[in-house]
Amino acid sequence: MEIRDKLYIDGSWVPASTTEMLDVIHSGTEEVFAQVSRGNSNDADKAVKAARAAFDSWSRTSIDERSKYLSRINEGLSARMADIATVVAKEVGTPFMLSQMIQAGLPIMTFSSMAQLATEFEWEDHIGNSLILKEPVGVVAAITPWNYPLHQIAAKVAPALLAGCTVVLKPAELAPVNAYILADVIDEAGLPPGVFNLISGPGSEIGEALVAHREVDMISFTGSTEVGKRIGAIAAQDIKRVALELGGKSATLILEDADLGAAISGGLFMCYLNSGQTCIAQTRMLVPRSKLAEVEERVAAETATYTVGDPFADSTRVGPLVSAKQRDRVMDYIKIGESEGARIVTGGAEAPEGLDKGFYVQPTVFTGVENSMRIAQEEIFGPVLSIIAYDTEKQAIEIANDSIYGLSGAVWGADKDHAIEVAKQIRTGQVEVNGGAFNPLAPFGGYKKSGHGRELGKYGLEDFLEIKSLQL
Ligand code: NAP
Ligand code: MG
Repeated sequence: MEIRDKLYIDGSWVPASTTEMLDVIHSGTEEVFAQVSRGNSNDADKAVKAARAAFDSWSRTSIDERSKYLSRINEGLSARMADIATVVAKEVGTPFMLSQMIQAGLPIMTFSSMAQLATEFEWEDHIGNSLILKEPVGVVAAITPWNYPLHQIAAKVAPALLAGCTVVLKPAELAPVNAYILADVIDEAGLPPGVFNLISGPGSEIGEALVAHREVDMISFTGSTEVGKRIGAIAAQDIKRVALELGGKSATLILEDADLGAAISGGLFMCYLNSGQTCIAQTRMLVPRSKLAEVEERVAAETATYTVGDPFADSTRVGPLVSAKQRDRVMDYIKIGESEGARIVTGGAEAPEGLDKGFYVQPTVFTGVENSMRIAQEEIFGPVLSIIAYDTEKQAIEIANDSIYGLSGAVWGADKDHAIEVAKQIRTGQVEVNGGAFNPLAPFGGYKKSGHGRELGKYGLEDFLEIKSLQL
């Protein structure tokens, strides 16, 4: 068992204020495979003070120097790629192959892309007699969830460091071990003390302490809309900057002329990815009523190819959910769907056969879904799809937009220009057209209750910068 009984504060590994430890559970076996320190609000205070003290000199280092540190972190993470993929496959349940690509590969790439952005970004601008400068916002508290844990951490830590900010990271309790690997790498990269700090422990205590701390200038949060709301309210007391990446209820909009096979494959992939524990999961499939029966049949057949099982088995396409609580929540939603009058095409609220250890759920498809039903409105965060029929394109767009969320979605149609016109009418921060690939440099973030701010690439960097005008 891996024991991480120290926190990373002010450039060294130090004991937490308490000796209590938190168990980290392997989602596929339910065994405790690691333990981490349970920090408290004293530790949060120490970490913020270290970050504050480090800010002045770090913010004045050259961009080139900061970029070199990011490259070193990228190299350190690359050397531990298999380790990261293994840890996250246990923590979250992501199938190992996907874990290598997404849970390890994506964050590693984020550090290198930020290092590269250093030379391309417009750090200065001129308007008339003014010189416009971009300066770091200050001490950043990064609070992250468990579903793509290191990716979500990298999307905050890499641009914050490049901008010249110092960071206190509070990772999710369910998936903290990957953050310890990052701290090891950062320690080896020789970042000045206090520039990066890691404290693990409950969000209700440590997270709130960070958000309320006078010396924190910005909170960058990814997680639930509920917690995001609370963070926004507390941060407003000190007019702190807040970036929020929250939930979603994205739609795959299949137009009348779409290649049905491709649209269904693409939509199902984006629904079942990471067992549906994906904020951009496409959990609603909007289909022309004339094609409903055909879609139901094809979706059922293709869902059968999503083998559920051990994240380390080669045949697995859908791993377990992250925790017993998350599994129970998803099962409850399946029962809610049935009680709302939706019809199950495949799956159901019973554990998949032969998997009695681990937090497994069957990929489940509902049809006959009205968009007003809870299963179509609320973020389930599990492998559950709602098929919704529409009569006209106008109605399809209205259904896609009839959501408190606005994170992502997809449009499929044979006429690409027309599909783009439809995509423009979807009120979300991202839309895939005909399966366009995820772009790790494109701005990522939400409209409506999916949050504010953008992550990744140059727009992600801008979130961590203040803008100053010098009149000359
Ligand atoms: P969450 O409760 O919002 O947790 C996200 C992060 O915030 C964790 O590090 C958490 O710490 C921390 N936190 C919790 N309460 C806090 C508070 N009062 N102040 C400051 N920080 C706090 O999300 P979750 O429990 O991981 O998942 C719940 C639901 O959120 C999911 O079912 C899903 O619907 C949604 N979600 C969305 C995304 C996304 O990417 N948009 C990601 C994950 C989850 P602890 O780990 O210690 O609780
Ligand atoms: Mg929580």
